[in-house]
Amino acid sequence: MNTIQFYGADWCPDCQRAKAYLIENNIDFKFIDVDLDKMATSRVEEINNGKRIIPTIIINDKPFTNPDNALLASVLGINEAGRVILYGANWCPDCQRAKSYLQDNHINFQFIEVDKHDWAATLVEQTNKGKRIIPTIFINDVPYTNPDNAVLKDVLSIGREAQKTVYDSIIVGAGAAGLTASIYIQRDRFNSLILEKKNIGGNAFLTEKIENYPGFTSISGPELTKKMAEQAKTYGAKIETGVSVNSIQKTGTTFSVTTNMGQYESKTVVFALGSTYRKLGIPNEEDLIGAGIHFCATCDGAFYRDREIIVIGGGNSALEEGIFLASFCKKVMIVNRGNHFTASETYI
Ligand SMILES: Cc1cc2nc3c(=O)[nH]c(=O)nc-3n(C[C@H](O)[C@H](O)[C@H](O)COP(=O)(O)OP(=O)(O)OC[C@H]3O[C@@H](n4cnc5c(N)ncnc54)[C@H](O)[C@@H]3O)c2cc1C
Repeated sequence: MNTIQFYGADWCPDCQRAKAYLIENNIDFKFIDVDLDKMATSRVEEINNGKRIIPTIIINDKPFTNPDNALLASVLGINEAGRVILYGANWCPDCQRAKSYLQDNHINFQFIEVDKHDWAATLVEQTNKGKRIIPTIFINDVPYTNPDNAVLKDVLSIGREAQKTVYDSIIVGAGAAGLTASIYIQRDRFNSLILEKKNIGGNAFLTEKIENYPGFTSISGPELTKKMAEQAKTYGAKIETGVSVNSIQKTGTTFSVTTNMGQYESKTVVFALGSTYRKLGIPNEEDLIGAGIHFCATCDGAFYRDREIIVIGGGNSALEEGIFLASFCKKVMIVNRGNHFTASETYI
C-alpha cells in the first residue's frame, strides 16, 4: 500500500507543521510517537546516522528527515489543483511522456513504480479491469488510464495564463532547432513561447548517445536537449508540451495560433517542425505500428528482449538502433535496399 509512517512527538513544532500539512491535504499517515516507543527512537537514529531528528517520515520505504512542506508536496504530488499519483515504470514511453508533461508544467506528482511494488501493480490491474495499463494516474482519487496531455491539461487546469498573453514569438517545435531559436529570441529581450506536441527534445530525445556535439564527448539526447531547454528557460522562455499546432492565421498585426489546447497570440511565428518517420507502405503497416513495427528502439526495444528482430535501413538511425538492440535481442538482422550502408564509418 501507498504508506506513510510519521516518526515524531507532540512537543515538536516541525512535527506539528508537517502533520497539519498532511491533514490539510487529506493524506493518511501512521503517527508513531518516539517518546512512547523505544523501537521507534532506535529506527529514527538508525536512519539519521545516530541522530534523533524528528519528524522523520517514511514514504513507501524511503525516509525523509524533517522535510519542509515544499518537499512533501513534491514527493506526495500535492498541488493546488489536487493530488497526483502516477503509477508507471521507467521503461514505459507513455509514462515518460506524462511525467515530462507534468514536470514541464510544474505539477508535483508522486511516482510509484509498478515493477517495484506488487500492491501498486495489483491496484493498476483492479482499476483497469484486470489489465496492467500504465501510466494509470490518480488525480484527487479519480483514476485516469494512460491519459493524453490534453486530458491532464484540462483536469489540472494547466496553461490557462499562457493563452492570455501576446508573445513576441511563438516557436512551433521543441527540438534542437526550436530550443535554439528561443535562446536567441530571449537573449534579444523578446518573449517567446515554445509549443510542442509531444515532449521537449524532438528527434534527439530518441537518441541514446550523441557523440558529435561539441563540448560533450558523449551525452544522451534527452540529457542534451534538457540542458538546451534549461538554457532557454534561464533566459525566460516558456515551453508548453502536449500542444499540437493545427493552423495559424494572421489577424491584424498578430498571429492567432490554433492548437488542440486552444488559441494563442503572437507577433511572429517560428516553424521548427523537424521531420517525421518515413514508412514502408507495406500491407497492414498502420495496424502493426506499436505492435510489431516500431520507429524507436530506445522507446520500445525492451519489448523484444531475447527475441529476433529486423531493422530496416542502412543509415545512421538504422545502424545506431541496431547496435542498441543487439545488446539485448537474440538476433538483429539489418535489411538494406542498397549494396552498401550510408551510415557513418563509426556505426558501420
Ligand atoms: C535515432 C536518431 C539518432 C540521431 N543521432 C544523432 C546524433 O548522434 N547526432 C546528431 O547531430 N544528430 C542526430 N540525430 C538527428 C537529430 O536528432 C536531428 O538533427 C534533430 O533532432 C533535428 O532537430 P529539429 O529541432 O530540427 O527537429 P526535431 O528534433 O524533429 O524536432 C521538431 C519538433 O517539432 C514538433 N512538432 C512538429 N510539428 C508540430 C506541430 N504541428 N505542433 C507542435 N509541435 C510540432 C515535433 O514533435 C518535434 O518535437 C539523430 C536522429 C535520430 C532519429
